[in-house]
Amino acid sequence: MSDTRLSFQDLPKAWQGFLQACQSCNNCELHQTRDNVVVYRGSLTAPLMLIGEGPGAEEDRQGIPFVGRSGKLLDSLLQAQEFTARDFHICNIVKCRPPGNRVPTEEEAQACKRLLSAQFTLVKPKVIVLVGATAYKYFTNLNDPISKVRGKWIENSGYYIMPTFHPAYLLRNPSKKLEMWNDFKKVREKLEDLNLIQPMQHPFEFIEW
Ligand code: SF4
Repeated sequence: MSDTRLSFQDLPKAWQGFLQACQSCNNCELHQTRDNVVVYRGSLTAPLMLIGEGPGAEEDRQGIPFVGRSGKLLDSLLQAQEFTARDFHICNIVKCRPPGNRVPTEEEAQACKRLLSAQFTLVKPKVIVLVGATAYKYFTNLNDPISKVRGKWIENSGYYIMPTFHPAYLLRNPSKKLEMWNDFKKVREKLEDLNLIQPMQHPFEFIEW
């Protein structure tokens, strides 16, 4: 899916300041091993925010979230359901790669929360998809298994929050694709109900993605 990110000089001042704060951040030890701070892709403002766990090797190399195999699978799903890059903003719980792709620690997630909150304020999403168990845990402070909570809406302060599988899990368990498809179908329907995106041009049918 094409990258719609603007060059730094074309960004609004608030975004320039935010990106500079991210680039210079050393609030946790992950800054010591990163090649790039991985902030976002998609639109600066979007009705839908997707939050993953943290950057992997390819994301760290390119400085863009969800660009490895998992990202390509996620993009296929978004495209199949007629989302465009204008509709969403993708980011992560932590903006620097945990060494060896380990799960971010509680301390690292907490340290990065201030930047995620600032990002949230800039993007102004209405619907939030928590991509994977780690994003669910650190965003909600809840510990339920993702298989129990995925596909169920959490409503909080006027926001609609949907946990779902991480695409890396689907790469290992392709039989779960239908469940993730159905989760994104609900997300799409919610955004349409809220008049935040145009209705789909093609009816919903599960297709291999
Ligand atoms: S992970 Fe977040 S808090 Fe830690 S150094 Fe990177 S930007 Fe800062």
